[in-house]
Amino acid sequence: MDQRTNPERVVHRRAQDGYQWEAVARLPYKEDDRALFRSITRQVLFSDPQMASELRYFEIEPGGFSTLERHVHMHAVLILRGRGHCLVGTEVRVVGTRDLITVPPSTWHQFRATAGEPLGFLCMVDAARDKPQLPTGQDLAALAAHPAVAAFLENRPNQPLP
Ligand code: MN
Repeated sequence: MDQRTNPERVVHRRAQDGYQWEAVARLPYKEDDRALFRSITRQVLFSDPQMASELRYFEIEPGGFSTLERHVHMHAVLILRGRGHCLVGTEVRVVGTRDLITVPPSTWHQFRATAGEPLGFLCMVDAARDKPQLPTGQDLAALAAHPAVAAFLENRPNQPLP
């Protein structure tokens, strides 16, 4: 499936719920046996050979989460809807609509939606980027040495949502 927005089309109108766009494929992430991520879809909003970056929209269903990973390329994230928690490095933060999150190079990160609502966010990345790396058992142990991170990974973040 072509994930690229059609350069011939100037406007891709939003769908009725406002978080899907005409002629933009909504790609379900296959549920993963290893439970690396859960209930997340991806839409590539802008991608063009003339541009060095891409803009995607991810949506995580209530209680779902993105893959815990790291890579050399950065993420610039703008939360568009909902609330949740993010792990960036060894920091666990509450995030909500219109918050901006920078994921620096080679930094562990994961996003989780609250139980009650989907978490939707724009994510800007390099068009040419390295493959994400998954944590080894040793990496997970090092992360879990931080109490807030351990709590987050067990999905009981110790920071209440506002
Ligand atoms: Mn990532």
